[in-house]
Amino acid sequence: MSLSVLEAIALLEPLDTGLARFGLLYGPSHAYRNAADSEAKALHKWLDTFASLLKSLPGSPRKQACAVSISLLQSSCTMTVAFNAENKRPETVSDLIHSIWDWMSETSSMQDAEMAGKNRELLIIVIKASLERLRRRLTEKAWFVDPLLAATASSSAPPARKRFLLVVEQSNADLLRLLGPDVESPDSDIVLRALLYWRKEYEDAKTELEQNVYWLAPYERLLRKPGFKPPSLVHHMEKLFQPYMQCLLIRKARKTLRAAHSIPLTVNVLPSPEISLHDRFQLTNKGEARIRAYLASSLHADLTGAASSPHATDAINQVWERIQHLPPPLPLHPAHCESVLLRHHLDNHIHNTAASPYPYFGISKPLCFQCALYFEAYQTCQLGPPFKHRGFPKVKGETKIEVEACTVPICCRGYDVADKAIEEEMGARLEKIFGTLLADTIERLRKAAEPDIVFVLPGYDPDREHAITRLIGARSNGSSYE
Ligand SMILES: [Zn+2]
Repeated sequence: MSLSVLEAIALLEPLDTGLARFGLLYGPSHAYRNAADSEAKALHKWLDTFASLLKSLPGSPRKQACAVSISLLQSSCTMTVAFNAENKRPETVSDLIHSIWDWMSETSSMQDAEMAGKNRELLIIVIKASLERLRRRLTEKAWFVDPLLAATASSSAPPARKRFLLVVEQSNADLLRLLGPDVESPDSDIVLRALLYWRKEYEDAKTELEQNVYWLAPYERLLRKPGFKPPSLVHHMEKLFQPYMQCLLIRKARKTLRAAHSIPLTVNVLPSPEISLHDRFQLTNKGEARIRAYLASSLHADLTGAASSPHATDAINQVWERIQHLPPPLPLHPAHCESVLLRHHLDNHIHNTAASPYPYFGISKPLCFQCALYFEAYQTCQLGPPFKHRGFPKVKGETKIEVEACTVPICCRGYDVADKAIEEEMGARLEKIFGTLLADTIERLRKAAEPDIVFVLPGYDPDREHAITRLIGARSNGSSYE
């Protein structure tokens, strides 16, 4: 292969081809958390909840992401956490995990009736951890709320809509008053009361609307920023009340994990990887010969015989056309947290230093293309235990996978046999993807070159057909046919 795995991934980005269709999703690690039985499902959502709580802890960088795994043994229990960017206050990570774990141990055998006060305690823990995220939501991410309310305000609107909009307006204003940038240390108890109150008001208003909020869509589309999807008021409100949902998910997992709660918990925060100069690469036009050689060889990975088509060269030219107008080389970031976590467990497995964790990784954000490729290659090579994850996001019913500007652990670690196997498998999959892409292009070129097909209908009369052809010819020549 004339290109490295990272170079081939960088080429895919400008081609923007709907990567979901390449079957990456149907490999061994593709199992949505919802497909599992209810106990496993509760545990999966609990791990995802942890990841999303941990990534927004106070002091977290803006685009933080988090991945979490849990290893449960008879005598010890370890929660391993990885972040995209280093968390500057690792003690907050350990504190949050321990306080939730302790809460779960204390309540694991309680009956629902005894839980009222305890539920409140959990809400306070979760809200404390979420204050910074809520503040960002109310300041930066709520930019569209006021203009949207102004655009939808109409004196003739049905009363249920008016009430819904009023609840949105008042809840945002009230929470901003309690959590805004001017408030130095927000009181979590008061924030909790406000959140519970407004959540109920909001749910009631939605029920009155019979959950019909589709009338908002045209107004939301008007506020869309170029290159982004339209803002969503319902999504915004759900994010505001998310602590409540997160508590429900933690409460659900409490019984599933009952047996584990007597075991002491250790928290292991993995160091975030740094990127070395060696990992950076520049893709310039000087690489044309290598890229063309790569494209030509990847065409042979496609088994439809497209490689021998007379359109093969044109197809390569077309793909090259699109690639050579690459924006400046992708700024390369270190490997994402889920891949770092996977590599950590693979290391442990190879060196036999720890027991396998529960086979599901909680992640705060769906996988990008290269992490998905890394996971699939790892599972195909069967180098260690299989892991599942939450799957991929859907946009308008279609699965979406995006190429991001990150590397994968094969490229930023000491190179060993496992890395080599994974890298080869990733390379083979990438070649197949490029092969399929080129075969598609060849098929399009072939169709475009074909003469128009004439369908002969039943009852065909050559004389009449001839007359019609003459008539059309005469008309297009501009002459009269009288
Ligand atoms: Zn990723």
